Amino acid sequence: MQSDKIWFDGELIDYADAKVHVLTHALHYGSGVFEGIRAYETDQGTGVFHLTDHLNRLKRSAAQYYMEISYSTETLAAAVHETIKVNNLPSCYIRPLVFRGAGEMGVNPLNCPVHTMIAVWRWGAYLGDEAIENGIRCMISSWRRIGPNMIPATAKASGQYLNSQLAKMEALKHGYDEAILLNEAGLIADGSGENVFAVMYGKLYTPPISASCLPGITRHAVMEMAATIGIETVEHDLTRAELYFADEVFLTGTAAEVTPVASLDDHHIGTGPITKQIQKMFFDTVHGRHELSKTYLEFPS
Ligand code: PMP
Repeated sequence: MQSDKIWFDGELIDYADAKVHVLTHALHYGSGVFEGIRAYETDQGTGVFHLTDHLNRLKRSAAQYYMEISYSTETLAAAVHETIKVNNLPSCYIRPLVFRGAGEMGVNPLNCPVHTMIAVWRWGAYLGDEAIENGIRCMISSWRRIGPNMIPATAKASGQYLNSQLAKMEALKHGYDEAILLNEAGLIADGSGENVFAVMYGKLYTPPISASCLPGITRHAVMEMAATIGIETVEHDLTRAELYFADEVFLTGTAAEVTPVASLDDHHIGTGPITKQIQKMFFDTVHGRHELSKTYLEFPS
């Protein structure tokens, strides 16, 4: 996670100086919104995957919590490119965070200042290279995913990740790699940090956003990529048993990229040809080797 510089409220400062007060509102009440973005090395330089879409989601997440970001999307995009450049990273993970700072204690966040920071660091495959190749072992979590009238999943807020952490810890403590959460209705929602896809009848199936999924940028990209090779995606509610017996299941996310699910609750699924095809297209695109790279990767102007 260490880098030379962090962008903090408009300035690039040393990594060691990027500190906050212990009475920071977000530390106590989870009042932050953030993004996870990746930059990839290509022949044309370092390209950031769907940077504008990520920053637009950040703005929407902030608006959900009445936080005003003091910077335009263009300024933040330039700041992302600048932070990557100054840290000399050909590829990296990018973490913008907008959070309520120290001002007033108590649940009401409205009198606390809003800070913005952007950190970057080197990060390989989130679940490991082996996971990308052969898939991971997942379990259905006993924790339910946050519901639309509890904490909206459409905003990517810091506090909601307590829900993901409970599910992730439970999975790891039971010897699995990742958790898939059901929503309040008992239908498939998301992984702890990924969207879920199943391959059935030669089509992709993924839960609709109303199932309490995060509107994943990778999810949307995969749906578009699949369409270009004639594979339709159906947004439809899925049950856990449908996943057990699907032809293929995979997870998508900025960190997880496209990761096959080898088994779910010890039901063998294994990886298959459609997942492999989508994975190849995804990696070709992010590394600048595909027609879609031109529109999916953003470079400094
Ligand atoms: N669902 C959850 C709960 C997540 O945390 C993430 C990661 N942001 C995703 C899905 C995937 O979203 P994206 O493709 O935008 O990274």
